[in-house]
Amino acid sequence: MSPGTSSERGTRESPFHDQARVYVQAGRGGGGSLSFRREKYIPKGGPDGGDGGDGGDVVLVADPGLRDLSNFRSRHEFKAGSGRPGLGSNKHGADGDPVELRLPIGTQVLDEGGQLVADLASVGARAVVARGGRGGRGNRHFATPVRRTPRFAEVGESGEGGWLELRLKLVVDAALAGLPNAGKSSLLRRISNAKPKVADYPFTTLAPVMGTVDGPDGRQLTVVDVPGLIEGASEGHGLGHEFLAHLERAQLLIHVIDGSETGPLERFRLIDAELAAYGAGLDERPQIVVLNKVDLGAAAPFELSDERIVRVIALSCATGEGVDELMRALFQLCPPRLESEKDELEAQGLVDFLVYRPRSRRRHPFRIYRTDRGFRVVGEVPEEEELAEALAQAGARSDSVIEIVGKDKKR
Ligand code: GDP
Ligand code: MG
Repeated sequence: MSPGTSSERGTRESPFHDQARVYVQAGRGGGGSLSFRREKYIPKGGPDGGDGGDGGDVVLVADPGLRDLSNFRSRHEFKAGSGRPGLGSNKHGADGDPVELRLPIGTQVLDEGGQLVADLASVGARAVVARGGRGGRGNRHFATPVRRTPRFAEVGESGEGGWLELRLKLVVDAALAGLPNAGKSSLLRRISNAKPKVADYPFTTLAPVMGTVDGPDGRQLTVVDVPGLIEGASEGHGLGHEFLAHLERAQLLIHVIDGSETGPLERFRLIDAELAAYGAGLDERPQIVVLNKVDLGAAAPFELSDERIVRVIALSCATGEGVDELMRALFQLCPPRLESEKDELEAQGLVDFLVYRPRSRRRHPFRIYRTDRGFRVVGEVPEEEELAEALAQAGARSDSVIEIVGKDKKR
């Protein structure tokens, strides 16, 4: 391979997938055992059916090594293992293996109703999104003084399952915003370790690029450059729309304007209108306004009284003039992430919710027991359809004998 070919490869941006849908299914609990002790010289052994193992959970884990959700392009279905059935001699069945989905940091998880289920916003964040069914109890649990030989055992519960929507919203300290060609990519190259493509035509940047900025005291900040915002981006025109989500978590916006052109205020307002139209409070974020390309001549004056604008800095990505001032302002205006994030979340009372909110544990208000002839349903007996499904899952066939005991009777 010639060196030319490989460098071409190196600069080509691979597509960035920040959305995916997956189907998760936790494991079913194993059935309890229906068994009686059989030993030499003990003619009538008592019940010794062990419990079934619990079904495995489906767990999501934030993995700092992942860039995006492209792993879920080809695989959508994730099933945890079922619990093993209990055995005689009081042997407990083994629990089912859990399944772990590794997701990039910043992935939000929504259920079918569009409810936020989990937000994997930090390294090591975990969330159980589908719980395995409980194993059924073996018949030894059901012995009483008057019923010494219980001829039934509980079946395992089904595991939770359903479709989940995954949406990646990058966790960054600051985000670049501005019209195409303003010099956002050039600026990120200047201040960070990232090497986004720079060219003299709009939409060079096709995927969000994250860069790490090193501060004088060893602190690091992350800054993201998203594909160019243009007029109408928030309505789905141009490229900006789908990537605006990656600005949501930034505490500071760096609004880059080509200062060598006339009318900087109009161009500022154009982008601002896009941020407002997108919503999510993007138009309330503090902004540093950067007037770029001062090497081409003094920037046109930018006078706007707006409390969001915390600094206006003229600089040149070409010569480096003014870049140090921007770096200082960045570290001043982005307080260390952990503390500020924690304070803010605590103030909103959201700490637990944002880290992990388990799905409601929907326990069946009824239980199914396997008898020596078929199945017995005890408790609040559900509608026909739900009952049929639950029985089928428990292993009932069309010729099984089903006893409906209903609500009040004790087992
Ligand atoms: P983006 O679309 O906002 O990411 O803009 P780019 O970083 O790709 O830059 C667009 C064009 O402006 C490129 O040709 C850059 O070389 C040029 N450019 C960026 N910053 C400066 C600067 O400070 N001075 C000059 N003269 N040109 C610049
Ligand atoms: Mg760019």
